[in-house]
Amino acid sequence: MEIENLSEDAEDFTGNIWKLSNGQTVLIDVGTGDAWKAIEKLEEIDKVVITHSHYDHVDNLPETVEKFGPEVYAFEPENLDTSAEKLSEGDEIELCGESFEVFHTPGHKNDSICLYSESGILFAGDLLFPDGGFGRTDLEEGDRELLIESIQKITELDVEQMYCGHDKAVTEEANSQIRKSLSEAEKRESKY
Ligand SMILES: [Zn+2]
Repeated sequence: MEIENLSEDAEDFTGNIWKLSNGQTVLIDVGTGDAWKAIEKLEEIDKVVITHSHYDHVDNLPETVEKFGPEVYAFEPENLDTSAEKLSEGDEIELCGESFEVFHTPGHKNDSICLYSESGILFAGDLLFPDGGFGRTDLEEGDRELLIESIQKITELDVEQMYCGHDKAVTEEANSQIRKSLSEAEKRESKY
């Protein structure tokens, strides 16, 4: 499976748009603003999975659905401007021929999920970021204790490659980066 970030050249602030391809084309989040230009150029999109419903991850969803008609999946479909199928903790979803398990990971936003595949690929949304980063908990629905519990859940996985909602892909030492995020979050110091 090939994974690339479609929002890399965007000038507007946006969440990452991870594009998975292997026969099918799948997007993890759709970003906001001029990141749409990279989505628009695609030939087809089969599925879209939303990691959480903050605007910088979902704003381009109506245009994406109108142009490509993908199946859309989210933890709380009612938070979106289009219809979507509901994902729940423990669900398995097939993306580009690989099976991913859904983990509900609140703390940054209540409808946050992570996706983890048997080959060690993790899509983490805004739960945590490379180099010890972690999601904001000062926004509505933010809860640092819940975020810590959610990161703890992810430390039990064996992660080879990590793709977060912002920042670069992590393809080396992902497990130790996740543990670093956990210990940073556990300091319970405010981030903003
Ligand atoms: Zn967010």
